Amino acid sequence: MADVVLTAPATEMSNHHGKEFLGFGTCTPPTVVPSWFVKMFFYPKVKCRNGEVVEAPYGLRKIESILIDEGFDVVTVHPYDIERYLKDAKVVGISVMDPLGFGPVSVTFSAILGGDPSTRIEFINLIKKIEPYRGRVKVIVGGAGAWQFEWDSYWKSKIDCIIIGEGEYVVADVFRRALRGEELPKVVRGRPTKVEDIPLIKRPSINGLIEISRGCGRGCKFCSETLKVKRDIPLENVVKEAEVCVRETKGVILHAEDVLLYGCKDPKFVPNEEKVVKLFKSVREVSEYVGVSHCSLAAVVAKPSVVERINEVVGVGEKVSIFGVQTGLETGSSRLMEMHMHGKCLPFHPNEWCDVVESAFSIMHENRWVPASTLIVGLPKETESDVVKTIELVERLRDYCSLIVPLIFIPMEVCALRRERAFTKENLKDYHYELMAVCMDHDVYWVDKLFREYFKGYKNIPIKLGYWVFSRWVKKSWEKRRREIKAFMKSLVGR
Ligand code: SF4
Repeated sequence: MADVVLTAPATEMSNHHGKEFLGFGTCTPPTVVPSWFVKMFFYPKVKCRNGEVVEAPYGLRKIESILIDEGFDVVTVHPYDIERYLKDAKVVGISVMDPLGFGPVSVTFSAILGGDPSTRIEFINLIKKIEPYRGRVKVIVGGAGAWQFEWDSYWKSKIDCIIIGEGEYVVADVFRRALRGEELPKVVRGRPTKVEDIPLIKRPSINGLIEISRGCGRGCKFCSETLKVKRDIPLENVVKEAEVCVRETKGVILHAEDVLLYGCKDPKFVPNEEKVVKLFKSVREVSEYVGVSHCSLAAVVAKPSVVERINEVVGVGEKVSIFGVQTGLETGSSRLMEMHMHGKCLPFHPNEWCDVVESAFSIMHENRWVPASTLIVGLPKETESDVVKTIELVERLRDYCSLIVPLIFIPMEVCALRRERAFTKENLKDYHYELMAVCMDHDVYWVDKLFREYFKGYKNIPIKLGYWVFSRWVKKSWEKRRREIKAFMKSLVGR
């Protein structure tokens, strides 16, 4: 049995039925739907072999790789199986995205539906399992959501050491000290890692997600990536990680804050088309399916040809029906763009933002790319007029197949606006409800087509049927209540 046990909350230790986008559903509070439903449809337990998970969150795989290289005896397990390993373990390392439910998606879902998000529930369940062993087992937490402990002293007290920021230069030392039984600093801040010091993963990540760039460079003040320098991972390392993943996964997902900016050195963020196409071609040689996580709308408009060439490489419209990508629409207000995210529009000007968004949606629609776009409600200094402009922008996008999701502004500890006041559901005004209703109208309008395309060829019939019933229920409930929008939204918020 190993000294070091690595794990993550059950909401993250899942491949979401091989559909990465369904991972958003893990932020759902078990209120309008029961917890078994959320678990079954959004985070089924990932496959295990000889007690270890076959796929694990990418960040956890990086930590695992460092610890193995440093000679630690490590196992990576599902949290539901962890008790079997705790009697021999000395250290537990937990990777977290949203441990306490303070992330924007969780806060928004909880404000609308009431209750705690499943992400928080599963993290707390995990800590409760470890609790009886705390006398001799040290608990170290890290990952994109580690900052959340700064907002909750109770749960912070349950952790021996919280690693905030990039882990590469600090992880081995912290785990070594923990194994020796030393007192650990409560918070350790990792500094940016040089590209040559970023290790390769040794085992497959969830859904084959692999990092192609770290950081962003556009500098939006509300975003956790703002404080990171952008670095591109060398192509040969990306391909090697893809080869590791496809041993278990159907394909790979290229992850970056903006996949279209891979290899880009242009200060105005115009994509380097040849670098991007070469990336996709190289990965496509080792993986049958290649997906992406995020891209920016401005990059799509700055270089539409790159979208077309990616489609040729990955087979969109042939072997792949649609190409999903997450992107940030943020606001329809050029004033807020100028104030909080000037760089997001580059190479365009904030005054052009609404046209850039519509052009990007149009290009993506023609190329069968489906943006799952988020926008922010309650940015500092937001006025009613800003929200009205966002409503107008969302209405302009009706003809483009997409999802638009409003998220409440959260001044995360790792962003430039961290000293701003938190926006709570009590701050929601009628015009915010109207914006949410317009987004819901948009999503319901596209839900049938999206369901058909997203699940085309999907073999798990019970799950597919379950999602179909769920999408019917959402659509019917919304159509029934559309006339009472304000009362409806307010009643939901009041729950
Ligand atoms: S473009 Fe996206 S990832 Fe980059 S700083 Fe802005 S919000 Fe963050």
